[in-house]
Amino acid sequence: MNYKIVRLNTSAKEAITSSVLIIYTGGTLGMAYDATGALVPFNFGQILEKIPNLTNMHIAITVISFPEPIDSSNVNMQHWMDMAYIIYENYDTYDGFVVLHGTDTMAYSASMLSYMLDGLSKPVIFTGAQLPISAMRSDARENLMTSLEIATAKANGKPIVPEVCIFFNHMLLRGNRAKKVQSVHFDAFESENYPPLAESGIVIDYNYAAIKPFKEGAQLKYRNRVDNRVMVLKLFPGITKNVLDSCFAIKNLRGVVLETYGSGNTPSEKWFLQSLEKAIDKGIIVLNVSQCNGGRVIQGRYETSKDLKRVGVLSGGDITTEAAITKMMHLLAHDPDEEEIRRKLITPLAGEMSLTSN
Ligand code: ASP
Repeated sequence: MNYKIVRLNTSAKEAITSSVLIIYTGGTLGMAYDATGALVPFNFGQILEKIPNLTNMHIAITVISFPEPIDSSNVNMQHWMDMAYIIYENYDTYDGFVVLHGTDTMAYSASMLSYMLDGLSKPVIFTGAQLPISAMRSDARENLMTSLEIATAKANGKPIVPEVCIFFNHMLLRGNRAKKVQSVHFDAFESENYPPLAESGIVIDYNYAAIKPFKEGAQLKYRNRVDNRVMVLKLFPGITKNVLDSCFAIKNLRGVVLETYGSGNTPSEKWFLQSLEKAIDKGIIVLNVSQCNGGRVIQGRYETSKDLKRVGVLSGGDITTEAAITKMMHLLAHDPDEEEIRRKLITPLAGEMSLTSN
């Protein structure tokens, strides 16, 4: 990939104390209105004109831009590999990393990078904006500046947040616990099943108990493979045997994230369970994830879910769909052993789920 690299001269006023690599992938944040009034990606070399305050932050900032910035609805496996590889390649040079990304699929990308960057011990902060940086009331300035501050924040010389996060509208969330919940208001992300890692007001208030502890001597490994022979199947009242069987008949399908009702409930009709059982018997892995934003799957709590465990459906506990599908894509690509994949799917890998026993 042919990246564009821009080094910003932010040392105008004060001495530099830390360094951040910004990876600009696209999204609304980095857009500006052109002469016709359309939104187009703007040249990141001009960011100091948009946010002159950056020069007061004592941070050396380098920007690597995707050659063709994307709307995040177009993000694909190659983009994930590129983002993770840029961080891996530049890991020792910077104190932290900020990924500028569209909000639409930010939770998927943050989840995937939390698995790909195994052994991470520096901050990787995803952020974006609901309004482009050039708009009067844009949230881009606040989101970017606070992300830069968090990416360089240290306590006793160690990074405070050594994990993949999303910072948006005053909240720092664990990336693989976050969900986009708003397409209009500024509070676009939520993490129902895990507390915020920090809230920014007059000061940035870190929730130390919730943040992954810094691990001395951890080695970063770049786990670069992804397998997309998977699908998300969302249940709805009226779903037919034909729909279910057709999905499970997809050639080479290896895994299904099954979005169920409430605490993991599904229709209890015979054809439904038989279809699941047949799929699982032929080697398709099925992970049960709730359609609710909060709470967890408890297979066996209601009669309508007690047979799922028996036929081999795995419980996703309190994982989000975004974190579940990316975890499946990651594990299927890295582990040759099906039993091992099944075990890892129900075990926390990067803080994406709480321990589950059902
Ligand atoms: N469609 C845009 C994207 O995800 C929306 C945004 O940037 O927030 O790239």
